[in-house]
Amino acid sequence: MSDNITRARSEPPPRHTRILIIGSGFAGLGLAVRLSQQGYTDFLVLERADDVGGTWRDNTYPGAACDVPSQLYSYSFALNPHWSRSFSSQPEIQRYIRSVADRYAVRDKHIFGCEVTAARWNDTAARWEVQTTRGAFTADIAVSAAGPLCEPKLPDIKGIHTFRGKIFHSARWDHDADLTGKRIAVIGTGASAIQIVPSIAPAAARLDVYQRSAPWVLPRVIHSYSRPERFAYQHIPGLQRLVRAADYAWRETFVLWQNKFPPAAALIALIAYIKMRWEIRDPALRRKVRPNYRIGCKRMLISNDYYPALGRDNVDLVTDGIKEIREHSIVSSDGTERAVDAIVLATGFRVADSPTFDLFTGRDGRTMSEVFDAEGVQAYKGTTVANFPNAFVLLGANAGFNYTSIIYAIESQITYVLDAIATLERRGVRTFEVRKSAQDNHNRLLREKTAGGVWLTGGCTNWFTDKHGHNTALWPDFSFRFRRLLRKFDLDAYETTPSVVAVAD
Ligand code: NAP
Repeated sequence: MSDNITRARSEPPPRHTRILIIGSGFAGLGLAVRLSQQGYTDFLVLERADDVGGTWRDNTYPGAACDVPSQLYSYSFALNPHWSRSFSSQPEIQRYIRSVADRYAVRDKHIFGCEVTAARWNDTAARWEVQTTRGAFTADIAVSAAGPLCEPKLPDIKGIHTFRGKIFHSARWDHDADLTGKRIAVIGTGASAIQIVPSIAPAAARLDVYQRSAPWVLPRVIHSYSRPERFAYQHIPGLQRLVRAADYAWRETFVLWQNKFPPAAALIALIAYIKMRWEIRDPALRRKVRPNYRIGCKRMLISNDYYPALGRDNVDLVTDGIKEIREHSIVSSDGTERAVDAIVLATGFRVADSPTFDLFTGRDGRTMSEVFDAEGVQAYKGTTVANFPNAFVLLGANAGFNYTSIIYAIESQITYVLDAIATLERRGVRTFEVRKSAQDNHNRLLREKTAGGVWLTGGCTNWFTDKHGHNTALWPDFSFRFRRLLRKFDLDAYETTPSVVAVAD
């Protein structure tokens, strides 16, 4: 008997489930909870790591914290009156996510340590066939909840592989690496870097911060909640929702100057200038940190300790660009060689070219990467993609918010997915696939909304704009409009095939 036949006989048949969710960050976990609240039991969550939490589980770098107010950073169905401060730290957020998994008893719906290696649509069987590191699965409906910030982007710098010291990405922090008294380089000055730099600078012998573009930095109004405040949030009905609503409304005003009326950004820029002037005494350093693009073009950052950290005697902001990395040093483009023991790559994530796109093979045999390469990264309402039947993508194209809580986007999409599943069952629909024309119309509208906005015209490069100059990641309008768009599943926008037995409406 050949090896192949032996293996084929010993392999268990694929495990079938109605709904298969891939990833258990805020999105996948939120969907699992809502499904279970609605009485669905026939679903599974595949998670490659050994815990829930997604990006908040993975980003354990020193100083990791959220720059969206805590009151907005929870599910609407599980407010957290126990936040210790107005902007939460990563450990506190991760504890919250874990507590939700426990409180809503969805851990037993998870298969941890289970990495999806391929997901192929079988048109004849009308199912997703999913290969994983823990066996094969089939599903009527697949939900990608892997998220846009799941895969680190590693820079392609000459000689990087020859470096002999410690080198790691901010989202894969090496906690065994003792950085005390070491010469450290941080590459990047984005949202992660500006939290890392002040946290590691005091203990470092030297810290070189390699900046390619200067970020706009605004003050962070941080407030520790007192016991009476937390008690009030816990016991006064509606109080926390009121504060949450106020935070929400304030954040919505960001859309006005980002997308609707960019000249209003001058006021925000003025605040940032005053802060820069106040916190940096050295004019040469001030010149280096002054951004050369309009505020809002990249994600705006908030920090009270980044500029002071740059001003420390043991910290150097290097703006000359990196020419090459050698075994024990980094050479900048002006020829200066700086000795270094450890390099932190705070260089962001693969959003527009996420490797998760390679996993999905659609109806016509092309992977999502191939479709996106040819047509650009697109989705219908950020949630479904033509050529990929019976599939949803949470935080898909243009479903991201850069000014308010991403959980608001996630919950909007979950509403849509739940309504879709109920509609399909009610109407006896076996397969659904968004019409390309509906997707194209949606994307045309998105482009109209983005045109003239600061993301495209602000004179910067950013991770939400693709190589064709299209914003493919962010929702370019008020977040409540996103919610309105997704409040009902619009079956008319989809090609469908009926189930064998249809249930009358
Ligand atoms: P990022 O914002 O994409 O920043 C990456 C940084 O690395 C940028 O300064 C970039 O420079 C630089 N860089 C990339 N490749 C480089 C290269 N080859 N050589 C030199 N510099 C290079 O990444 P991030 O800071 O990890 O943040 C990513 C996203 O995570 C954020 O936008 C945000 O959505 C999320 N995040 C959120 C929080 C939060 O508080 N909620 C905290 C951290 C992260 P350029 O600007 O010139 O490209």
